[in-house]
Amino acid sequence: MRGRRTLKIRNIAATAAFGLLAACTSMVPQPGATQPAPLAVKQALASISGEISEANLRGYIEKMVSFGTRHTLSDQTSDVRGIGAARRWVESEFRKMGAACGGCLEVMTVQDTITSPPRVPSPTVIANAVAILRGTTDPNRVIIIQGHLDSRVTDPLDFTSDAPGANDDASGVAAVMESARVLSKRKFGATLVFAALSGEEQGLHGGRILAAYAKAQGWDVLAVLNNDIVGNTHGLAATVDNRIRIFSEGVRSNEEETIAAARRSVGGEVDAPARNLARYMDVIADQHMTGFDVSLVYRRDRFGRGGDQVPMVEAGFPAVRVTEAAENYTRQHQDLRNENGIAYGDVIDGVDFQYLAQVTRLNAMTMAALASAPRPPLEVKIDGAVSADTKVSWTASPGAASYVVWWRETTSPVWQHSVVVPGSETSTTLKNVVIDDWFFGVQAVSADGYASPVQFAGVVGAFFPPPPK
Ligand SMILES: [Zn+2]
Repeated sequence: MRGRRTLKIRNIAATAAFGLLAACTSMVPQPGATQPAPLAVKQALASISGEISEANLRGYIEKMVSFGTRHTLSDQTSDVRGIGAARRWVESEFRKMGAACGGCLEVMTVQDTITSPPRVPSPTVIANAVAILRGTTDPNRVIIIQGHLDSRVTDPLDFTSDAPGANDDASGVAAVMESARVLSKRKFGATLVFAALSGEEQGLHGGRILAAYAKAQGWDVLAVLNNDIVGNTHGLAATVDNRIRIFSEGVRSNEEETIAAARRSVGGEVDAPARNLARYMDVIADQHMTGFDVSLVYRRDRFGRGGDQVPMVEAGFPAVRVTEAAENYTRQHQDLRNENGIAYGDVIDGVDFQYLAQVTRLNAMTMAALASAPRPPLEVKIDGAVSADTKVSWTASPGAASYVVWWRETTSPVWQHSVVVPGSETSTTLKNVVIDDWFFGVQAVSADGYASPVQFAGVVGAFFPPPPK
């Protein structure tokens, strides 16, 4: 969000990968006390970024398009055409990546049989291709990247016509696969899940099936990066836009009445965990990428539309939608045809691979940073009514070497001020910061400088449900 920041905010920009300097352990709040990402973090993320290959992304999409249609209701038995062949090919690629890392990836099909008229008129197997890279120290904390493999044309029930779906959403699946290839060469504390979903165009079924699977596994899902339509830069009005939009909800989709009551009382309408995940990605782009910028959109999805992040947030998981900034509607959900000089259809010529590579880099670096950082503090609380100061306290996060306490004006879209607190502390008092006038949050930072997302104070912003009392 570089371009829209004021000078004041830029000077004290949030840090997603952050180093604690020995000199910065003072307990006196110092607005802007954060440091740039340490060199080791910059180098580790740059090496991931550098391995993302445009040629691979093109190869994946060419192969997906070669299956003719990947409609959810298409043939599932053919080896050359239809959604079944496409899904088995993704799984075979995941297995190749797993073989290259000594069996580090668990590859599986996560599926269910769905009947859901009108778009799924008869019982249909909806099968997701999933690869899991288990975390080394905190394997139950899970970061998911997903895109949808299924495609469609004008009639949502037409499962025989060619539906290349090069951008919607072979681009998202390609980002998933290339992230899997690069990240599976490394080890992370938390678990990474790579998923190519089906049934999206017929009613978000694959996302719902994966969400149910995550619940059944008891995963603590920290983040879901839903990549859907991430490969085009040329909009309808001859505009070119190289930014990536990240859509996030401000109020939890699964908000319970007790949490809603707290939110109405003390605020938090723009601080669901998904929103702070989106801000985290914005900071990753600002700190670790050049010539590529995030546009934060404070909505759960584009106006009146949906995607596979929706079943995830409905299940209580922080999930964002990652989508290009300049959509081209002559290519989405269209029969392949020429009409009045306009070529309709989602063909591979509409994919900008340089751009898709940048989107993939942002995803892969975000996953690596999240999986290398400690968990966000479990509970963040604030006290200080009718006082000149605000006390911020939190539950210790395993592996945290320090914390960053953030505050911002209630009208500011991004975090503004911060103070560093040593890892031995679980509270700090912000002198002359009146609790009424600011929003507060805390992030946990590892010894090597990886930071969790900022967690907004209170249950409204909790990434994970609070422990039973
Ligand atoms: Zn889509």
